[in-house]
Amino acid sequence: MSQHFVEVALPVPMRQLFTYAISEALNTPNIIVGERVLVPFSGRQLVGIVIKTAAATDIASEKIKPIIARVTDKYPLPPALLKFLITLSRYYHHPIGDICQQALPVLLRQIEQPDLSFQTRWFAREDNADTDIEELSKRAKKQAELYATIAHSQGSSWPELRTLGFSKAQLNALVDKAYIKEKEIEPSEFEWQEGALFEDNRLSLSTEQAVIVSAVNQSNQSFSCHLVDGITGSGKTEVYLQAMENVLAANKQVLVLVPEIGLTPQTLARFEQRFDVPIYLHHSGLNDKERLDTWRAAYIGHAAIIIGTRSSIFTPAQALGLIIVDEEHDNSLKQQDTFRYQGRDCAILRAQQLNIPIILGSATPSLESLQNAFSHKFHYHQLTRRAGNSVQSQLSLVDLNQEHLDHGIGESVKQAISATLQRKEQVLIFLNRRGFAPAINCKECHWVVDCQRCNKPYTFHQNDQLLICHHCGSQKRIIKQCQQCGSSRLSPVGQGTEQLEQHLSQWFSDKSVVRIDRDSTRRKGELTKLLQAIHNKEHDILLGTQMLAKGHHFPDVTLVVILDVDGALFSYDFRAPEQMAQLLVQVAGRAGRASKPGKVLIQTQYPQHPLLQDLVNNGYRHFAQQALTERKFARLPPFGYQILLRAEANYPSYPAKFLSALCQYQYQDCELAGPIPAAMEKKAGKYRYHLIVQSAQRKSLHQATLQILSLMQSHELSNKVRWSIDVDPVDF
Ligand code: ADP
Ligand code: ZN
Ligand code: ZN
Repeated sequence: MSQHFVEVALPVPMRQLFTYAISEALNTPNIIVGERVLVPFSGRQLVGIVIKTAAATDIASEKIKPIIARVTDKYPLPPALLKFLITLSRYYHHPIGDICQQALPVLLRQIEQPDLSFQTRWFAREDNADTDIEELSKRAKKQAELYATIAHSQGSSWPELRTLGFSKAQLNALVDKAYIKEKEIEPSEFEWQEGALFEDNRLSLSTEQAVIVSAVNQSNQSFSCHLVDGITGSGKTEVYLQAMENVLAANKQVLVLVPEIGLTPQTLARFEQRFDVPIYLHHSGLNDKERLDTWRAAYIGHAAIIIGTRSSIFTPAQALGLIIVDEEHDNSLKQQDTFRYQGRDCAILRAQQLNIPIILGSATPSLESLQNAFSHKFHYHQLTRRAGNSVQSQLSLVDLNQEHLDHGIGESVKQAISATLQRKEQVLIFLNRRGFAPAINCKECHWVVDCQRCNKPYTFHQNDQLLICHHCGSQKRIIKQCQQCGSSRLSPVGQGTEQLEQHLSQWFSDKSVVRIDRDSTRRKGELTKLLQAIHNKEHDILLGTQMLAKGHHFPDVTLVVILDVDGALFSYDFRAPEQMAQLLVQVAGRAGRASKPGKVLIQTQYPQHPLLQDLVNNGYRHFAQQALTERKFARLPPFGYQILLRAEANYPSYPAKFLSALCQYQYQDCELAGPIPAAMEKKAGKYRYHLIVQSAQRKSLHQATLQILSLMQSHELSNKVRWSIDVDPVDF
């Protein structure tokens, strides 16, 4: 009997491919690369992806097991996507089995055939003569908005409508009134229609904007990377929208990566108001079925636009014509566990392999991208003015040494808040620390209530009466007595958003304070509701963590107060200043979008610090140039390349011992730093160490990593230590 063999990537922690035999009967029609197969693996059955097929193999035939079955649906991984994943596996030194796994929707990873019916969409009914929208909008404004959204599109999906902030109740009400109906769609390849562009909503571009759009258009048929460096409100989104027109008109797909779509429903709204084409979302707020839907719509070519978070880079859009990475500096683009990829870099690679253009946009581009722009690897475009007549906000420093402080807020800052509120304008206060207080200690003996698993103080959450460790998530009921001296004089130290909310409400008792952080927005739909209330001017003071720094437009905010930046000034992490600068500028960008100019006050103990001075006086771009000069001098990224080896274990001495073993060898053109304890030496009960390998040449680093990998795999502690390789690390 003639046999064929396949090499399969499996979702197991081993790095190699596994060879299986396939009988003649099963090989008709011929098995192809990218197909899913069911195979036996140490007593279990697993779904794997065929990476190679062969007529012969060197492995002894008695060692080879046959595959159990082929998964014969219509979705083998397309060759271009597979090639992309294999390249990533080499670049990131990460097992291809795990990468394939992450690239597949959960429902396609399973043995059972998933429900392959397509999700229904909502349509406006044309057979209802009683549709009286004016009347409806008087009685139920939200329902009228929902109706308009649906009527305006060729079918809206529930994930879309939910992201836009509508509720099932509103949807059901419209069904009851016979205004809309649900219909199953049979998705087919999307085709550009006359009228799919809503011309009325199109803005006429400024010269700066027009130059970018035409540069992207010119390189439509080939790879080119465009960095759009434009302050918040300078019209980057408008540039994306118009750059997409030609691509969509050629029946090609557009992939848009955003940091967190759930946080920015207005992005989706802008796309919907511009294009009447099938738009699909892909993010963590979708359930498995919804994600499978997006994946298949992309696969078939039905999804014209796919908007999603970093993992959307793996959607199998086969007619991709353009990739856009919005907020390209954002840290959420980097996955921080298991497969540690940088979504932006992956997007650039994918565009390169597909030979299509890519646009990166940010008000605060990453130093990596800026360096690529300055060295002409990327096309560099600046948008220097805010669109319309709005003015950019002015940053100023408040010297805390000169101020009387009331619960962390300086006297002059308090006056500025008060004056702004009197003018009936909104204030945004940024404090990047949630909870009531970051620690609790004993007034008698200074004992601090620590999380035993992390050796770090518990954060006190007053509303829940809980102590929560923000590092490992463990919780504990509030303690009443010091466990060292028995005193009952335990009290909170420092201040988080929960506490500040209370003080603000007392100080400005006739004003409404809204707190936006992970705690206050835990319930589904809560954030959208709070944002809506802010836009309706139901709140005067917006208090929050970095959730407030991302993407939202608050046109009525004219004062931004940033309470606590000093930590980043003295961090050992060489990226801390960059991240701080980005955060400050991003928070500042939320204000003064309308014709009202915004003011930004930054409280600091170190107003003379060169970094703050540079940022405030010369702006982000100048700051970035300085920072790049320093990085170049220190041969740090982007002027050198790094990998970070992490090791952790329950037993304190293992991680350092494991990593030290690697330091006994020579690696050509590479330097080693470490092993050193991680910034959090103990986390969730594990002891953690780091070793950094760096080189001026990527190739040398790659070679060294291969060498290290084989050393780690054969080390005696290999199974007792959890280790990982992080290529281009950003978090130490
Ligand atoms: P960004 O994405 O850079 O924050 P947007 O594209 O959202 O900027 O634009 C900010 C505001 O300016 C929006 O309200 C948008 O409608 C408006 N805008 C953008 N481009 C233009 C233009 N060419 N003419 C008039 N208004 C514009
Ligand atoms: Zn005590
Ligand atoms: Zn902990």
